[in-house]
Amino acid sequence: MSFPLERVRSDFPVLSREVNGQPLAYLDSAASAQKPRQVIQREMSFFEQGYAAVHRGIHTMSAEATEQMENVRTQAAQFMNAASAEEIVFVKGSTEAINLVANTWGREFLQPGDHIILTEMEHHANIVPWQMLAKERDLHIDVWHLTPQGELDLSQLESLITPRTKLLTLAHVSNVLGTVNPIEKIIPQAKAAGLTVLVDGAQAVMHHAVDVQALGCDFYVWSGHKLYGPTGIGILYGRKALLEQMPPWEGGGSMIKHVSLTEGTTFAAAPWRFEAGTPNTGGIMGLGAAIEYVTELGLENIHAYEQELMAYALKAMEQVPDIQIYGPATRAGVIAFNLGKHHAYDVGSFLDQYGIAIRTGHHCAMPLMSFYGVPAMCRASLAMYNTREEVDRLVAGLQRIHRLLG
Ligand code: PMP
Repeated sequence: MSFPLERVRSDFPVLSREVNGQPLAYLDSAASAQKPRQVIQREMSFFEQGYAAVHRGIHTMSAEATEQMENVRTQAAQFMNAASAEEIVFVKGSTEAINLVANTWGREFLQPGDHIILTEMEHHANIVPWQMLAKERDLHIDVWHLTPQGELDLSQLESLITPRTKLLTLAHVSNVLGTVNPIEKIIPQAKAAGLTVLVDGAQAVMHHAVDVQALGCDFYVWSGHKLYGPTGIGILYGRKALLEQMPPWEGGGSMIKHVSLTEGTTFAAAPWRFEAGTPNTGGIMGLGAAIEYVTELGLENIHAYEQELMAYALKAMEQVPDIQIYGPATRAGVIAFNLGKHHAYDVGSFLDQYGIAIRTGHHCAMPLMSFYGVPAMCRASLAMYNTREEVDRLVAGLQRIHRLLG
């Protein structure tokens, strides 16, 4: 099937706007993706016609909203091929999901002197919560360093695992390099050594299908806003047996079974035990629409189209004089680069004048910036709605900046 690019583009209202007098070329979807009309409308119609507090009410609208929310949990489970909807926790996003695991699983199962392995390509969201826990619990963090191509050398894992190593936490896809880590090989090796494995899928789920049962990971996290869904909603997948053993994190309404001022509190079953307070129901409805949207298109079709566009973009960008492209040849979603000695901010500001939106800075991956010895990088993202023409405009823009700035 050829990818229905025009139809997809027409579903995203923002793609027809202008920025600085130029048609928008939105190449910043890895930071946050644009939303199709289907997502916007689902959220709007919930607020217009179906809004009510969930889980508490006896009235019809509350019951309907609760049912819809639980349906999205089932959709999210099917999307990742989780064994059941009870393995799906609604969170704000990947950041909250990792903090939740660090604060519940981590506090319950990690003892002073235990080791955690994480990689040099992690987003700060998969570093800082572990550093905070390590300080509190006197844990050791061992870093899986990168090859010069920005990949993980699988043969190093064995030597990183100590008798006290309990957790391997790593990105499925790097938000800077686009490296797709071979987690289908890494996870079995880590599991064979008795480790718990968390996969940060924030940059993966929009590019290819994910099957958590086939992967065998213990936790897998992602954010709705990068999957063309709303902000403020994300998914923590946790293997049921683990979620059931984890104590709650935030306390409050909706996560309890019984509260007594004299006898204390008992907690609801997982996953509801991890969802204190009134949930982001509008976001959950929109997330359901986003999952439907990409599922209907087919992740294998999205993958094939994006890979073709990526190959085109890498080849075209290599022609820009003095460009330095970071990361491996095979990748998903992003191309990080620098242009000569120019600061990424300058390059990004010029491109913005041409209507081209990219990301500049450290990309919440300062250790990776240190690895490459640069303070910042530019990053162009390629999503399913991007075109060759937009890539051509990026390349022409970079050539022009090179001519202007030298
Ligand atoms: N991990 C990775 C790899 C990411 O790219 C991001 C978002 N840039 C996050 C985690 C954090 O996601 P969020 O801000 O949606 O919580």
